[in-house]
Amino acid sequence: MTEAFDAIVIGGGPAGQKAAIQGAKAGKRILLVDEAGGAGGECVRRGTIPSKTLRETACALTGFRARTGGVFELDVRADLQMEALMSRMTRVVEAHAAYIGKQLARNDVILWRARARFVDPATIEARGPDGRAKRATAPTIVIAVGSRPRAPEDIHIDHENILDSDSFLSMGYLPRTLTVLGGGVIASEYASILASLGCQVTMIDRADRPLAFLSPNLSGVFLGAFERAGGRFVGGAAPRAVCWNGVDAVETILDSGEMIRADKMLVARGRVANLRGLGLDAAGLAVDGRGVLLVDEACRTSAPGIYAVGDAIGPPALASAAMEQGRRAMRHALGLSPPPPAELVPMAIYTIPEISTVGLSEAEAVKRHGAAVVGRARFDEVARGHIAAAQDGILELVVLPGSGKLVGVQIAGEGAAELVHVGQMALIAGMTVDAFVDNLFNFPTLAEAYRVAALDASSRL
Ligand SMILES: Cc1cc2nc3c(=O)[nH]c(=O)nc-3n(C[C@H](O)[C@H](O)[C@H](O)COP(=O)(O)OP(=O)(O)OC[C@H]3O[C@@H](n4cnc5c(N)ncnc54)[C@H](O)[C@@H]3O)c2cc1C
Repeated sequence: MTEAFDAIVIGGGPAGQKAAIQGAKAGKRILLVDEAGGAGGECVRRGTIPSKTLRETACALTGFRARTGGVFELDVRADLQMEALMSRMTRVVEAHAAYIGKQLARNDVILWRARARFVDPATIEARGPDGRAKRATAPTIVIAVGSRPRAPEDIHIDHENILDSDSFLSMGYLPRTLTVLGGGVIASEYASILASLGCQVTMIDRADRPLAFLSPNLSGVFLGAFERAGGRFVGGAAPRAVCWNGVDAVETILDSGEMIRADKMLVARGRVANLRGLGLDAAGLAVDGRGVLLVDEACRTSAPGIYAVGDAIGPPALASAAMEQGRRAMRHALGLSPPPPAELVPMAIYTIPEISTVGLSEAEAVKRHGAAVVGRARFDEVARGHIAAAQDGILELVVLPGSGKLVGVQIAGEGAAELVHVGQMALIAGMTVDAFVDNLFNFPTLAEAYRVAALDASSRL
């Protein structure tokens, strides 16, 4: 028998949850199918929530050292067990998963623990852990299957010494030395967390700087802090061979001939969409050359009634963007007005210190509008930066020359992921930089950097 629903969502990560809740809030009968059962997806089990919980502990340690000015001795024990370090992680993950589960139940979303595949464009087969299959049909199907770490062909990930981002947090002990392959978001986040915990970290990447998609000013703040914590970035390099020597180290030979030895290696060279085995043929769909599903601005695929959201459609591959896409897709399917434009989805990278942007970078503004002016503030220009020992930060306002209209905000420094929302609201309201000059901010705060950057932009205008 095939059960009928108003919409089916495949995958219970941030994208799938928000699509399902949106549909249920509109009074529709929604089925959410997730092979791992409980809601949360990779985001809760192995991605955002666990990594940010570990980071919080690392930040507490580094912040304590910096803010107490060396009054107290604080050392990380050499044999520190990861489990002890992450004692809060299980509680945080369970609390978040329970919260999401209750939200789905409260909204009457029907949850099936099963692996789904298409039978035809409007029908799925869902196979549970007991091997039994049942079918469901709906006029709208949202694919929200997420992604997994890309497995490199030339490196054997044994999940014990050479790990990927899924197995990284299962390490027994905090390693003394770590090699990180990759220079993207996950690589940089784990590299800076481990470095701040006292581990000697070497990052290796083909690009000449980490986080190369960001403006050099922002990635420079991360690199400076990483190097001060004892980290080393080897740019423009590729490993010729990587292996566990069978005794005590992962050995990496670079194309330059240099050998780097470390207790553990993290391979973080991107992620691939979980589209294998989904029966895309039966739905009349195919992946593009990058292995993701192509969608339009409403997240519609080329097959009528089928939407794709979250990591399954590729960059930016952020939980925040995934949630927005889930809501957007379901609202479109139900004929409801869409949420605000996707370009105003802020992005945060939780290195130490963190980086966050919203709107356009200087280069994007020049490309789109022909010219741009950037007003800058360093956190050492505001009192709070010194008080909080957070002087390393920068805040940049990207402004259009004629009108003074704000089109982008770029921040690297403590609190960036929160601070960026002040600028986001100004962007949504279409404000000019004058708004930051004419209005008062609490003193002493890091938010004062907005005013300093606005004054800088005004003088350049
Ligand atoms: C280490 C790490 C740190 C991160 N940190 C951040 C961060 O700080 N901020 C941020 O915004 N983003 C972060 N991300 C990215 C974020 O986790 C992802 O962008 C987000 O989880 C994507 O959500 P999703 O709903 O598309 O997929 P997922 O969260 O991957 O969920 C997909 C779900 O679909 C299920 N599924 C897959 N195939 C099927 C099938 N055939 N049938 C049924 N179920 C299926 C999976 O089991 C999974 O539960 C991080 C990622 C990692 C790995």
